[in-house]
Formats: sequence, C-alpha cells, structure tokens
Amino acid sequence: MVQTSQISSPDQAIKPGATIGILGGGQLGRMLALAASRLGLRVHVFAPESGPAFDVCTRHTIAAYEDEAALTAFAQAVDVVTYEFENVPARTASVLNATRVVRPGADALAKTQDRLVEKTFLNNLGIPTAPFHQVDDAGGLARGVAQLGRPSILKTRRFGYDGKGQALVREGSDLAVIYRSLGAKPCILEGVVPFVKEVSVIAARGINGAFAAWDVCENTHDHHILSVTRAPAAISEQSAVEAMEMAKTIADALDYVGVIAVEMFLVEDKKADGAKVERLVVNEIAPRVHNSGHWTIDGAVTSQFEQHIRAICGWPLGSTRRHGRIEMTNLIGADVHQWHDLLGEPGACLHLYGKHDARPGRKMGHVTRVFPET
Ligand code: AMP
Repeated sequence: MVQTSQISSPDQAIKPGATIGILGGGQLGRMLALAASRLGLRVHVFAPESGPAFDVCTRHTIAAYEDEAALTAFAQAVDVVTYEFENVPARTASVLNATRVVRPGADALAKTQDRLVEKTFLNNLGIPTAPFHQVDDAGGLARGVAQLGRPSILKTRRFGYDGKGQALVREGSDLAVIYRSLGAKPCILEGVVPFVKEVSVIAARGINGAFAAWDVCENTHDHHILSVTRAPAAISEQSAVEAMEMAKTIADALDYVGVIAVEMFLVEDKKADGAKVERLVVNEIAPRVHNSGHWTIDGAVTSQFEQHIRAICGWPLGSTRRHGRIEMTNLIGADVHQWHDLLGEPGACLHLYGKHDARPGRKMGHVTRVFPET
C-alpha cells in the first residue's frame, strides 16, 4: 500500500447528512450507496432504468442521460455528483456541472472514454501501452496490420467492456469482414502484449492531492470477464512500486478526485543471461470504482467504495492496509446458486447484488476470502 500525507479541512468538506448523486444504478452504485449510508450520507441515484442500486438508495430518478430538465432537477437535489460508469455523455456531465461539482471531473471522462485518446494521453506521460494504430476504415486496418503484424487486436475506440467491441486479427482473417464485424466504427488496432499476468492498481486521490493506493492485485478472466482477483499480486516489489507510481502519475495529470482503477499487463523479458525482467504495460484506465477492488470491502481497513465517497466529499482518505491475503471470486450467472453453500463456509464473505435473472455472463455477486498472513 502507498499513502501520502494529507491536510484536509472540514470547511471545504461536504458534511454528513448531505446527499450524494450517483449516475448509474448497477452494483457499483449499490456498493457506493451502502458505503455512503454508513457514513451518514444520503444517496440519490439517476439512471435510465431500475437496477441494483435502487434497493439501497434514498431517492432515485429514472430518466435518460440526455434529459436535461431531469438532470438539472437531480443536480439541484444533491450536494455532489459522481458516476459508476465511464461512458457518461460529455453533455450530461456539463449540464450537471453547471449546478453541482461532478467528481471525478470532465477531463477524466474525456481521457478514458476513447481508447485512442487514452493511449495517447498515457504515452505522453511516458507510460507504456500496447503499440497501437488508428483505424478509421478497412484501408486503415490494412495499414495497421502491416505495421503491427498478426495476430493483433481490433477494438472500437468507444463503448467497449468485458471484451465486447473487440476482434482478433489472425493469419488469413479477411480485414474488411473484421472491420465490418465491429460496426465499421472508429477503432484502434493493438499489438498483442505477451503478458504473463494481468494486474490492477486501485487508488484514490483527494481534492487536496492526497493519494492512497491498495496493494497491487492480480486478475484472472474467464471469457473476458473478471473471474478471480488476488491480493497482493505475486510480482516483484519493484514492479509493485512502479505500478502504484504509474497510477499516481495518471491521477495527478487528470487532477483526479475519487477512486481510479488502472489495469496493466505484466510482461517478463528474458535477458541474454537468461534472467527474467518484469515490465508493466497499461491496458486501460477506469475513472471509477472497479470490480478488481471489491475485495477491499472485507479485506482492507477502508473499502474502495468508502474511499470514493471520502474523496468526493473532500474528506481525509482512509487507510488502505490489507487484513490478510485476499481472494475475491465473482459469481457470474448460475454461480450465484452456490449462495447457500457459501453462507455455510466459515470466513467466506458473500455479497449479492439483488439481481433476479441469473443470465450467463451476468455479474450476480462476489465472495471474498481473507487468509491470515504469517
Ligand atoms: P480490454 O477490454 O481492453 O480490457 O480487453 C479485455 C481483455 O483482452 C484483457 O483483459 C486482456 O486479457 C485481453 N487483451 C486486451 N488487449 C490486449 C493486448 N493488446 N494484448 C494482449 N491481450 C489483450
């Protein structure tokens, strides 16, 4: 864990009893609302349809993110606005911002909604990413493949998640067909990073620039969906420090307020003498609380959800110290039917999101196990 010293004054702070406005009504909003309510805050959720956060909030608004009258009424009813997903339309954020501060701010959204903008931003900070090439048509894809080779990965610039909006360009793949399969939208082509592990840093930055990161965690995916997170990641101390420094560099550059997640690939290069050297490559930034940080609810002094609320309220950040070695497993689709057995397992901390339909691929809950460290 890393934590910088902080000076924070109650005068600048939002007070207990105030109302947090959250855009988005999914499980991240639900866990944010639960953390806020423990700290004596009220929560008003704004979402286009009912979702898991509605069960635990004080008020909700069901309206489109383009409904400016509803957005203005919502902003007037809350003390600060935040969000649980990064695809908040720029216009939505600016309508809200006319009345209430939106945290994290517009720059965080602008830099993380578009993969091309995000990778350019990172490289300008000296942070390595996969090699990439802008693709605006099938000819651009051919030029990208000539530069990056096969296999490579074509991704839509916007609105991709859990592997959606991605296609692998293999030997013999028809480039025009692949480009059309992603809707002929603006894309980037990425070189394949030969990673040995995927890791993430979950960190927070306060309004006064204070920074706190939890220990780096290690993530495994199943069909592109996060399956298990372990903390701490089994990586060198030097890589762990570098990963946290990268997260701090990014958060500082965005003048960020709130919890941020930075997903990274760990690559092992072999030197001439056979020794292995670790190297980190940033894959993605999420300007929000993140699935690979859910373990912090049961496994750390301060959870990512509480920390986000503390940051956006201008409160001191909490300690990110772990309680032990952690394993968090997502309950996807039918996995949720294990709920009864999990409740019977000593030490298993079960979280269910209150979703009714256990469709394949749907995140229904998670379970965290904390093992004492000797
Ligand atoms: P993303 O939606 O960009 O996070 O990608 C989903 C998953 O695809 C990642 O977690 C990786 O497992 C894999 N992936 C994405 N981009 C690359 C890349 N450039 N090289 C290797 N694997 C990748």
